[in-house]
Amino acid sequence: LLRLTGLRKSFGEHEVLRGIDLELHAHEVVALIGASGSGKSTLLRTVNLLETIDDGVIELRGDDIADPRTDADRIRSRIGTVFQQFNLFPHLSVIDNVTLAARHVHRVPRARAKSRGLELLDRVGLAHKADDFPDRLSGGQQQRVAIARALATEPELLLLDEITSALDPELVGEVLDLVRTLAEGGTTILMATHEMAFARDVAHRVVFLDGGVIVEQGPPAEVFAAPREERTCAFLARFL
Ligand code: ATP
Ligand code: MG
Repeated sequence: LLRLTGLRKSFGEHEVLRGIDLELHAHEVVALIGASGSGKSTLLRTVNLLETIDDGVIELRGDDIADPRTDADRIRSRIGTVFQQFNLFPHLSVIDNVTLAARHVHRVPRARAKSRGLELLDRVGLAHKADDFPDRLSGGQQQRVAIARALATEPELLLLDEITSALDPELVGEVLDLVRTLAEGGTTILMATHEMAFARDVAHRVVFLDGGVIVEQGPPAEVFAAPREERTCAFLARFL
């Protein structure tokens, strides 16, 4: 579904991604782990075209999406993204946040967008909050709305960047439970996470990034229980 080949990205002198090769199959859930600054967010941001790349190829179902001639908005509607900060529009109700893209980018008629939006909110357990404004919701609820919004364009791929990092600990579980449900339902997910236990439970594959290169990857049971690389051992030791 997604194939990254020889991906490179520098900020000034600092090369943050140093030749990333990564493939993601449909329905696969892949967790990106690695220390702060290892390049996880940059990698996700290149995939949804928030950062340009210096070299390499990004293919989504065979389409070369990093080609400057591609229509970035169309590509982004094929890739749902949720960030650490929920980034909901404070002046819009929950349902309007979820349906905004459908109505304005995809020109879906209001009534249809609304019924589809309510379905999505129902999926994340928040249909009863449709007419509330974001500031009336808990952080966990806001993040679930952000997930519903990301799903509104029926993306082929969902990118999640540390989506529980800004949450109070007691709210983390409800968001992770939702991601688990999506994963079990076959959503293709590439997620950067510091939640090692969650990565171990939910991801089909764990990819360890260090200094802008993939040092090691494999099924969580292997990578967590018996890392092959020194640097992976050192990183994981901090979570034990
Ligand atoms: P964290 O776990 O803290 O989220 P990360 O693995 O997501 O870290 P990135 O955010 O990808 O790391 O950052 C990788 C490196 O790139 C860091 O050294 C960061 O300072 C640098 N960087 C990221 N974005 C920019 C930018 N827009 N301009 C300059 N440097 C940047
Ligand atoms: Mg990050």
